[in-house]
Order: sequence, then C-alpha cells, then structure tokens
Amino acid sequence: MKTLGLIGGMSWESTIPYYRVINETVKQALGGLHSAKLLLASIDFAELEALQRAGDWDAAGRLMADAAGALRAGGADAVVICANTMHIVVDAVEAAAQLPVLHIADATADAVRAQGLDTVGLLGTRFTMEQPFLRERLESHGLRVRVPDADARALVHRVIYDELCRGEIRDASRDGYRAVMAALVDDGAQGVILGCTEIGLLVGDADASVPLFDTAALHARYAARWALDAA
Ligand code: GLU
Repeated sequence: MKTLGLIGGMSWESTIPYYRVINETVKQALGGLHSAKLLLASIDFAELEALQRAGDWDAAGRLMADAAGALRAGGADAVVICANTMHIVVDAVEAAAQLPVLHIADATADAVRAQGLDTVGLLGTRFTMEQPFLRERLESHGLRVRVPDADARALVHRVIYDELCRGEIRDASRDGYRAVMAALVDDGAQGVILGCTEIGLLVGDADASVPLFDTAALHARYAARWALDAA
C-alpha cells in the first residue's frame, strides 16, 4: 500500500470525512486491523481564505506548494488536495511535490460517467463555479457542465464560507440549496456535483430529484483505491 499525502484544513470540517472514508475504503479492501498510510499537512484556513479573497493566487499557490513539499519530504507517494477550489493551483502543487496529484475532478467525472450521465450541475465556491479550472477538467471527460445563475452562485458561496466552513448547518440554507439544485435540473442537469468538500455536510440524496456527487467522498475513495492499487 502506498502512502497518501493529504493537504487538508480547507476547511478542517471536510478533512474529517476524508480521513474516515480513506480508512473505511482500506479496511473494506484489506480487512482486519488494516488502515491507510497517510500524512496530513493541515493548513490554517484563515490565512488561505484571506489570499483567496484578495485574489492572490500566487501566494496561495506558494502556501499549498510548501505543504506539498513537506508531504514529499515526509515520504508521501501522491498528493491529495482536500478541496475543489485549491485545484486552481494544482500545477504549483505538482511542481513542488514532484509526485502525482490525484485530481478531484477526475475522481468525480469517473463516478458521473459510471452512472451513464453526461450533463451535470456544479455547485461550489464562486471560484469553482466561475473560473474554468474545474469545469474544463470535467469537460475533458466528456461532461457538459451547468452552473447556477448569479444570485444562486452568491448564495451557495456565502453559505460555504459563513456557515459550512465554520461547522454551522442551517435548515434555511438547506432549503436554499434545494431550490438551486431544482433550478439546475430544470436547466437540464441529470445529476449535481457537490463541488465543494463541505456541501455534503448540508445536503444529501433526499434533497434533489437527481443523483448527487459528493466530491469529498468520491475523491477520498479514489485516493484510497490509488494507494491500494498502485504498484
Ligand atoms: N472546501 C472547499 C472546496 O472544496 C472550499 C474551501 C476552500 O476555499 O478551499 O472548494
């Protein structure tokens, strides 16, 4: 089994499910007392969020690259960025780590295609919904991607930073997300990608009329399988 290097803390609320799902997947595969070999570089999200808000992606990339370098030095065989948004600097992370970076969009697209779907809605931070880095990677797998309108994107983004990343789960926000997902379905989405690793803490399968794809769980399982299968 290979050793995974996780960059987490973005936010720590969603790093917890990563740790659980990776270990559950290894336990299911190997049985007994087996658990995952992993290293966690957990950053201070307040520092990262300030850089995101300022649009200073170079500095954010350096922060992530430092974490990746530490994971390599600690013996990681691959890097897992435990968030969608920070895949915006995946090239800087790859360059610093000199290791494979297991991309969250590849994990997600595999799951969507496995269900025979080709048109999906995408929820996430405004960076993820409005910039091309994640959408284009999904499209490279043959998917068509729909994003919510401007008002809905503002709601989805606000709830992530003001509530979910602080561990606050509110019924009113769940209702808001339900309405946003229903509008995406009306727009042709056959499934909805929860393209922010905290959204699975707020909504689940019962909240939409189409399949939901929780990027945190899918990415964690994909990483665990990589660790088990890599030669
Ligand atoms: N965890 C989030 C994501 O998946 C948002 C927090 C962040 O900006 O990293 O995009």
